[in-house]
Amino acid sequence: MIRNVAAGVQSFTSNAFLVDGDRTVLVDAGSGFDVVDRIDGVDLDAVVLTHTHADHVGNLDDVTSAFDVQAWGFDADHPGVDEVIPDEGTVVMGDHEYTALHTPGHKDDHLCFYSPTARVLFAGDLVFQNGSFGRTDLEEGDRGALVDSIDRVLDAVDDDLDQMHTGHGPSVTTNPIHDVELASKAARMR
Ligand SMILES: [Zn+2]
Repeated sequence: MIRNVAAGVQSFTSNAFLVDGDRTVLVDAGSGFDVVDRIDGVDLDAVVLTHTHADHVGNLDDVTSAFDVQAWGFDADHPGVDEVIPDEGTVVMGDHEYTALHTPGHKDDHLCFYSPTARVLFAGDLVFQNGSFGRTDLEEGDRGALVDSIDRVLDAVDDDLDQMHTGHGPSVTTNPIHDVELASKAARMR
């Protein structure tokens, strides 16, 4: 079961997905709302970060201290990251093993997480619904790297991908590969 605990929040925040099962994980912490209250009573095991932009990590200290859990991410030098997930490292979320794909272009420490058995992709801020893609005008942004990262994800995912959960906006539950392909084309055009 995957649930966006930031749903309906009006502040500037990313989505924050609670993935429950054998290992209950929060994918991104969001920012500017009481995430601890929204996951009250959950037996949380870890926080996993797609990247460390402020809208994804603003609530991080609150949730790691309230639940006494560690945060996992790519950038060993970031103060919020307790445990490092390398490129192609694996992490159990819910009842499934996900592979981390280092996917820079939006931010240097960006990871996507893909599970072929769950048929789920967490895309962070790489791509969004309907072919939107992550900003590359911020520090560490690089359009060429973003295009390469999108293409890497397209290579990695199987044709039966069922769900894509993105850092902003709605999740895609109908043929998400199509949305990633659209983003690949759009990101090349401008
Ligand atoms: Zn971001």
